[in-house]
Amino acid sequence: MIKNNVSTRFIDAIMRFSTKNYLHLQKTNLTKLPPPNEQKTKDKEYLLYMHVPFCATICTYCSFNRFIFQEDKARAYFRSLREEMQMVKDLGYDFSSIYVGGGTTAILPDELCKTLELARKLFGIKEVSCEGDPNSLHKDLLYSLRGLVDRLSIGVQTFDDNILKKVSRYDKFGSGNEIIKRLENTIGILPTLNVDLIFNFPNQTEKTLDYDLQTIKNLKPNQVSIYPLMSSPSVKSAIKRSMGLVSLDNEARLYEQILDTMKDDFTQLSSWAFSYKEKEIFDEYVVDNDEYVGIGSGSFSFLDGTLYVNTFSLKEYSQKIQNKQMGIARERKYSKKARLQYRLMVELFGGEANIKRFKEKYNSNMEIDLFKEILFLKLTKNIYKQGDSYFPTMQGKYLFLSMMKEFYIGMDRVREESRAALKEEDM
Ligand code: SF4
Repeated sequence: MIKNNVSTRFIDAIMRFSTKNYLHLQKTNLTKLPPPNEQKTKDKEYLLYMHVPFCATICTYCSFNRFIFQEDKARAYFRSLREEMQMVKDLGYDFSSIYVGGGTTAILPDELCKTLELARKLFGIKEVSCEGDPNSLHKDLLYSLRGLVDRLSIGVQTFDDNILKKVSRYDKFGSGNEIIKRLENTIGILPTLNVDLIFNFPNQTEKTLDYDLQTIKNLKPNQVSIYPLMSSPSVKSAIKRSMGLVSLDNEARLYEQILDTMKDDFTQLSSWAFSYKEKEIFDEYVVDNDEYVGIGSGSFSFLDGTLYVNTFSLKEYSQKIQNKQMGIARERKYSKKARLQYRLMVELFGGEANIKRFKEKYNSNMEIDLFKEILFLKLTKNIYKQGDSYFPTMQGKYLFLSMMKEFYIGMDRVREESRAALKEEDM
């Protein structure tokens, strides 16, 4: 039985402390990202992340980097994105995959298409993944993205009308039934459709979660990601006011229900991602891309052990691009040990940490360099060894889901702090 036990709470507390400490970033004087590491580029694949920070209206619980949509500002922003993309190309980077996040990525479909066409011209792109919301599920839009977007990830969160109303999504994206109809009409237009669901809303019962899981099993999208509710400090108090307290015991219990319900029809790709069995299995992006370049306001890049964060101010971003600079504003370098610890967590979150692959990718003998961490995980029965790999136990799957949740909450905290400093003219 999966539990939020002492070792999970202990490791979570360390993770919370570490993310707070490690995500404390300093201002940078750099005007461009460093070029790709020549020694690594031969067999190294980078991911390009692109951020579109505009939404028609703002949801109460959102901690992403987003601004109210104004067409002139958004068109100017897309022009800047394309210029920053060209700067990345001039530095010598190439990418086989792109991830477009938002905001509402398709808020200006013509600009999105133009930007992706440029990306496909500049780089050896094999796969483009794009986030979207339930309002993006329109045949015309998806047909216009064919050939440009390979994987569309839709943030549905739940099909339960009561929860949709409480999190202010009902009026904006429609009822659960309306979203189901839109999914039925659009699954199959693009090569891969991923549905994002959230579990462990305050007071969520096994019955309401079961409704979401059975609905998704009937719909059979190519992929489904089922995240625990992640609440950064400001979101946490808003949720507490309108829905009540988030229970970690409930989280463990509901997670076990998810694993039980999904196992017959879906293959598990990571602690929270599942691929429909009769269709092709797709990668889990968090696991497969250890280095990435981010373009656009508020995006993150991770290169050669350093995290870079672009400015969250739209005004400053546009000025930097006009001055032929990239958007970077802050940075933080990490020790090799910290990077290895992070990668061990991510690999185990992805279902397997292979000793040989770890050596090839990170030049590390993980059983020596991370001896204490592995011993502790083994003693607490979160991992076991088979052949050349370590695998998470059922309890371990929950632990690594919980650790990734803390990591993402830490990233949200960086966004919140950065956005809190913005003035009217920055937006
Ligand atoms: S649509 Fe998404 S990005 Fe925009 S405000 Fe709502 S939750 Fe945030």
